[in-house]
Amino acid sequence: MLQSTFICHTCGRNYSVSEKIWRCACGGLFDLVYNPQFDPNLIKKRKPNLWRYREAIPIENDSAIISFEEGFTPLLEINIAGIPILVKQEHLFQTGSYKDRGATVLISKSKELGINHVVEDSSGNAGCAIAAYAARAGIKCDIYVPESTSPAKLAQIESYGARLHKIPGSREDTARAVQVAAETCYYASHSWNPFFFQGTKTIAFEIWEQLGWQVPNVLVLPVGNGTLLLGAYFGFQDLTTAGMISEIPQLIGVQAQNCSPLAQAFAEPLSQFSSVSSSATIAEGIAIAEPIRAEEILRAVKHSGGRFVTVTDGEITLALKDTMHSGFYIEPTSATVIAAISKISGSLINQKVVTVFSGHGLKSTEKILSLLNHKFQP
Ligand SMILES: *Cc1c(COP(=O)(O)O)cnc(C)c1O
Ligand SMILES: [Zn+2]
Repeated sequence: MLQSTFICHTCGRNYSVSEKIWRCACGGLFDLVYNPQFDPNLIKKRKPNLWRYREAIPIENDSAIISFEEGFTPLLEINIAGIPILVKQEHLFQTGSYKDRGATVLISKSKELGINHVVEDSSGNAGCAIAAYAARAGIKCDIYVPESTSPAKLAQIESYGARLHKIPGSREDTARAVQVAAETCYYASHSWNPFFFQGTKTIAFEIWEQLGWQVPNVLVLPVGNGTLLLGAYFGFQDLTTAGMISEIPQLIGVQAQNCSPLAQAFAEPLSQFSSVSSSATIAEGIAIAEPIRAEEILRAVKHSGGRFVTVTDGEITLALKDTMHSGFYIEPTSATVIAAISKISGSLINQKVVTVFSGHGLKSTEKILSLLNHKFQP
C-alpha cells in the first residue's frame, strides 16, 4: 500500500527503502518519496498519538511499530510580548523532547528491517530518544556525544542501557567519530536518515488537525540541523500533495546569534559558511556549526516565504526567565523562539502564530541552576 523510495539529492539515483542504507553510494543525502494519504474522519476516531496519521507514515507492517503512544501534544495559547501565541508542548514527550517523533518512526523502520544494533551521534536529545526507543525495541544501541554534553542528558542515555561514547572536541568531531562506527552498524542518524524526518513531520499534521484542519500563518521554530523545521516543511508538503491544504505557513527559523550559519547564509547567499563555534551559546540543542541539510533548509524557508531570526544569549536568558515565571519548565534552547517572537512581535500582530517548547527543563538542571545563581542576569 505504501510504496516509498529513497532518491539521492546529488546524483538522482533511486533505491528501495528495504535496503539498510542511509546515504547514496556517491555520498549524497537521501530524500524519501511516496504517496501520503489522509482521511480526517478516520483520523478523528483514533487514539491521540502521532500514529493516528498512519496512512502518511511509510512503515509497512503495524507489527514493527515501536511506540510509547507519543505525540498529539497540547497546543496551548500563551501571551508573549502582548500577543497570543499557540505553543506546542513538545517538551512533554516520553524522553522530554520532540525528538521522540523521529525516533518512533526510525526505530520502527529499523525493527522492520530486522536490524539488531544501531549507532547515533547527538548533542543530547536525539541520543536520548534513539536510546529509549532502541531499548523498547530490544535493539542494541551506541550513542556518540560531545564530551561537553549536559550531564542530565548523558545520565538519561546511559540509563536506557545504551553504550555511551564521549568524544573530546567539537560537535563536528563527534560526527566524524560516528561515521567510522556507521560503516559496520546501522546509522540511526537524525540528520542523515530520512525516516527520522518521516516522524518529525507529524508535528505539521497535528497543528493542522488542532486548528480545525487549517494551517497557521506563521510557524516559528528553533533550527540547528533542521530536524524540526524540515520535518514540519515535509509534513505541510505532504498535506499539500494530498490536496488537504492549499498553502503552507511561513516558516521562521530561529538561531542563536553565536552559532548562526543558516541565518548568515540566508542573508548572504554567496558567502561561505564562516566557521562558527558550536560551544559558544547557551542554546546547546541547536548549536550546529555545519548543518548537513543546509541547502534544503534554506530552500524550505525561502519557499514558505519565511526568514531567519537570530537571538543573543542575553535575549534567550531573559526569555527563559519570563517563560519559567509563567509556569513552564523548559530547557534554555527552547527559549530561543520566545526571544525571537518578542523581537519581531510587531510583524506578528493579527497573524495566527504557532511555536514550540522543544525540550524539558529537567534536562538542563545544571545550566538552569547557574542562571538562577546569577539571577538570570545575561
Ligand atoms: C533537536 C532540538 C532542537 C532543534 O534542533 P535541530 O538541530 O534543528 O534538529 C531544538 N530544541 C531542542 C531542545 C532540541 O533537542
Ligand atoms: Zn548519489
